[in-house]
Amino acid sequence: MPNYDFECQDCHETFEVRATIKEMEEGKISCVKCKSKNIKRIFNGFGFSTGKSSSLTSSSSSSCSSCSSRSCSTCG
Ligand SMILES: [Zn+2]
Repeated sequence: MPNYDFECQDCHETFEVRATIKEMEEGKISCVKCKSKNIKRIFNGFGFSTGKSSSLTSSSSSSCSSCSSRSCSTCG
């Protein structure tokens, strides 16, 4: 029986529940804190991208002022 992560939409408590798909579909899961059924499933580990990974390369070109190359002996 797998664990599922939920976030309560009422008190924003995040909690982990061990339940079956059937139990979730039947609405038997409730918030551990306020007992609300207004909860949202949280998907961890996949489907989430970090977003800003490609935009870092353009700003990292810190060339030295004395030469046009980005990697000379004086630049380090
Ligand atoms: Zn709650």
